[in-house]
Amino acid sequence: LVRFSKVTKRYGEHTVLDDLDLDVAAGEKVTIIGPSGSGKSTVLRILMTLETLSDGLIEIDGEPLWHERRTDQLRPASEAHLRKMRGQLGMVFQQFNLFPHMSVQRNLTEAPRQVLGLSRKEAQSRATELLERVGLADHANKYPGQLSGGQQQRVGIARALMMRPRIMLFDEPTSALDPELVGEVLHVIRTLADEHDLTVLMVTHEMSFARRFSDRVCFFDKGRIHEQGTPEQIFTDPREARTREFLRAVL
Ligand code: ATP
Ligand code: MG
Repeated sequence: LVRFSKVTKRYGEHTVLDDLDLDVAAGEKVTIIGPSGSGKSTVLRILMTLETLSDGLIEIDGEPLWHERRTDQLRPASEAHLRKMRGQLGMVFQQFNLFPHMSVQRNLTEAPRQVLGLSRKEAQSRATELLERVGLADHANKYPGQLSGGQQQRVGIARALMMRPRIMLFDEPTSALDPELVGEVLHVIRTLADEHDLTVLMVTHEMSFARRFSDRVCFFDKGRIHEQGTPEQIFTDPREARTREFLRAVL
């Protein structure tokens, strides 16, 4: 479904992603682990089209993301093409990124109304259903500041799902949370990913969650996938010394 081929991202002299190949199949749950600065967030941000890439190709269903095909040539993507491709993706950030001046309900309904052109009624019924699913049906009229971190992040997840994406990107969705709130958010992610048969790409430091949740774990180092495998293999029998060293430090 998603394919990175020889993707390189540079900031000036600094190479953040180095000739990266990564394939994610439809319905697959992939977690990305690795040291700070290894390029984990950059992968998600590039896929979400929040950053450009320096070299290489990213495709969704065989269709280039950053370029579009005209006849047999690839040209830089138009805004319309990016918007269409972006519509398949939803992203949840570490810092929630909710609109503080909008109610929970409006945080959910704003983008689908503006971007998808849903009527107020359609957007509201979608929002009600999702808030129910994340256990926040009673909080629709509150503002983000009136909610706990875990509740805010569940709003963030519901908001991303309002657009009915096929692919969900999570960048350390529980890192900003108090430990006792982490479980509720991970539970919601897991339940919704199953229910909606989502393809998931998630950066996380929650190793026990990664182990239970993912089909595949990718260990990033220096802008490349240094090692990947099933959670079982990576967590119990890593092949690479660098992976072992990282896991020893975080587990
Ligand atoms: P962390 O675990 O700390 O979140 P990460 O693996 O997500 O790390 P990235 O955020 O992908 O790392 O960043 C990779 C590298 O790219 C870092 O060295 C960072 O300093 C650099 N970088 C990221 N964004 C920019 C930018 N806008 N300009 C310059 N350098 C950047
Ligand atoms: Mg990061």
